[in-house]
Order: sequence, then C-alpha cells, then structure tokens
Amino acid sequence: MSEKFTAAVAEEFGPTLNVTDIDLPQPGRNQALVKLHTSGVCHTDLHAVEGDWPVKPGLPFVPGHEGVGEVVALGEGDHADIEVGSMVGNVWLWSACGTCEYCRTGRETYCPNAEYGGYTVDGSFGQYMLVDTRYCARIPDGADLLEVAPILCAGVTVYKGLKETETRPGQFVVISGVGGLGHIAVQYAVAMGMRVIAVDIAEDKLALAKKHGAEYTVNAREVDPGQAVVEYTGGGSHGVLVTAVHEAAFGQAIHMARKGGTIVFNGLPPGDFPAPIFDIVFKGLTIRGSLVGTRQDLAEALDFYARGHIHPTVTECALEDVNEVFEKLRQGTVDGRMAIRY
Ligand code: NAD
Ligand code: ZN
Ligand code: ZN
Repeated sequence: MSEKFTAAVAEEFGPTLNVTDIDLPQPGRNQALVKLHTSGVCHTDLHAVEGDWPVKPGLPFVPGHEGVGEVVALGEGDHADIEVGSMVGNVWLWSACGTCEYCRTGRETYCPNAEYGGYTVDGSFGQYMLVDTRYCARIPDGADLLEVAPILCAGVTVYKGLKETETRPGQFVVISGVGGLGHIAVQYAVAMGMRVIAVDIAEDKLALAKKHGAEYTVNAREVDPGQAVVEYTGGGSHGVLVTAVHEAAFGQAIHMARKGGTIVFNGLPPGDFPAPIFDIVFKGLTIRGSLVGTRQDLAEALDFYARGHIHPTVTECALEDVNEVFEKLRQGTVDGRMAIRY
C-alpha cells in the first residue's frame, strides 16, 4: 500500500474542495518532495476551482501556488544549491521548457510548455507537494514562514507588474484593488520610491493601503475614481496597476492614467471591459498584461522581503478552513492574505 497524505482536492468545478487523503508522490528527475509548513490562498485558486477561465485545469487537482516547506527527498538530477532540509516554495511558474523563444528571451512566464503550480501540477493545499528545483523559490534565511508565503505569487506578480508600469521614483502609481496582491503592491511601490494612490470599493481595504504607505485613497463606490485621481495628481497617474477582481476597474484605469502613462493588468476576472479608443489614442496610453514573474523577478521580490521592506498582512488558517476562505474571497472580506499553516 502506498503512503497517503491529506490535501484539499478539486474533484469537480464548483464552490468547494474536498479535504481527503491522496497518494504521496515520488520526486522525479529535477524534482523535490516538499513537506509544507504554510501556503497562501490566492484568488487565482478560486478561479481555478470554479473553472471560470477559458483554459481550465484537468480534474482532479490540488490548488495552491504560494506554498513554503522543507525538502524531504530529491529525485535524480543536479539540484544546484537545494538539498534535503532546504526551505523552498512552489510558484505559479512551476516549470518551463527552457528552450522556446519565450524562455530564451527572458519571458519564461509565457512559455507555451510551462506547467502551472496548483493548476496543471498539484499544488500546496496539502501536507506534501512536488517542486521542480530549477524553478522553485528559495526561501530566504530567517523568513517568517507565514508572512513570506504571499510573496511567492502576490509579491512577485505585483513587483513585476510595477516594473512593467515604468513608473519612476517620485512619480504617481495607482494600485487599483487592495486585496492579497494590491496590499503588497502598495508596499513594493513605496519601497521603489513611487507615490502611491490606492483605489478599492471597501473602506477597510483603503485603511490597509494607508497603513502600508499609500498617500491618497479613493473609494470607487463613492466617487468617480478617474476624476479623483486626475484632480489629486494634476492630470493623472504615470502608472496604474490593476489587481482588482471586477471588470469595472479595468475601464476606470484608462481615466486615471496621465498622458503617456502605462497601465498594467494583473487582475484576471473572466470577461471584458469597454475601452474608449479616443482616450487611449489622445492620451498616448500603453496598456499591457503581466503574468506573475520570472525566476529573476522572484529572486528580486524575495530580496526586497529579506531586506525588511515588505510585510504582508497575513491571517493564519487551517487546511480544513479552505472552503471558508474561498467564501471570504468571493465576498471580498479577506484582510490582506489568508495562509494555511500545516
Ligand atoms: P483578492 O480577492 O485578495 O483581492 C481583490 C481586491 O479587488 C479586493 O480588495 C476587492 O475589494 C477589490 N475590488 C473588487 N472590485 C473592485 C473594483 N471595482 N475596483 C477596485 N477594487 C475592486 O484577490 P487577489 O488574490 O489579490 O487576486 C486579484 C486578481 O489577480 C485575481 O483575479 C487573480 O486571479 C489575479 N492574479 C493574477 C496574477 C497574474 O500573474 N497576473 C497573479 C496572481 C493573481
Ligand atoms: Zn496566485
Ligand atoms: Zn519555453
């Protein structure tokens, strides 16, 4: 009989995961078996389980791509600096081919042969997981294992997204959506010397943004966020990073941007938004999407954390609570990030 461990499994698309015992996998070539300590719960896990994106994961699967744990066994291959006992993490970019046009040009997150943690490969909502040691995160020494977990997806995603806005120190950046991603984006933007404006539809989210260093906040449910940002900044924000889970925020970004500004989309609500062509042309806007980050972005994002610039607001929960956490994400009532402790 094979060994078993407890995991939260998506057996069908829908609202709930089933917490059950599954077979312990053996690490293959370039892989490590990891015993988990913590895992963040990303809104992407909810999209995955509900199957609401055009490309769906194969069922059954174990979600989770902000997992932190200890290597307990290594498969064949050269694992570089990773050994039994190393603290590592799984990420969305679980592995890539390393040889395609995108991999060769430093854009590995767009590799057509990539595997995604907790989506195409079982993830961190369980006591054990596999990682590819060529792509997994190296957790910095001394890291708080609960606090560091959200850096593995939320952190690297917004760090890369902020770079993609091309906002310079001293310029304005809007963070639209102050959830798991957004409250960390506020902190990276402050650390990168940007002047941060936060936009959300809930007062407690705006208070969290202020706590983490936003100089101005806008409640998009109460005022026109475009007008408020244009007035405060004297013409619009140089950069806009959209991490919100509602389509409305994507169109609003165009009204918040300054002439020549750059808007980056991180948020992934399924659906479309109306884009005013006249405004985009006459303001000379750049609009781009940004998907997580490369291994280098991840190392840099973790380095900001290790140097004490980033402190995610994290609330601890148990694996058994995962369906309740999903419900809170749906309602928009999570403060920062929730993370499982094993
Ligand atoms: P979350 O649920 O923690 O936060 C979402 C936030 O959006 C909440 O604070 C909510 O109040 C806010 N919001 C909702 N409607 C809004 C509106 N109209 N205007 C402004 N704010 C609004 O979610 P999260 O974990 O931060 O993830 C956010 C999104 O980013 C998800 O769609 C997720 O799949 C996606 N994501 C993308 C990447 C990527 O690589 N691009 C990586 C991780 C997550
Ligand atoms: Zn994520
Ligand atoms: Zn590739």
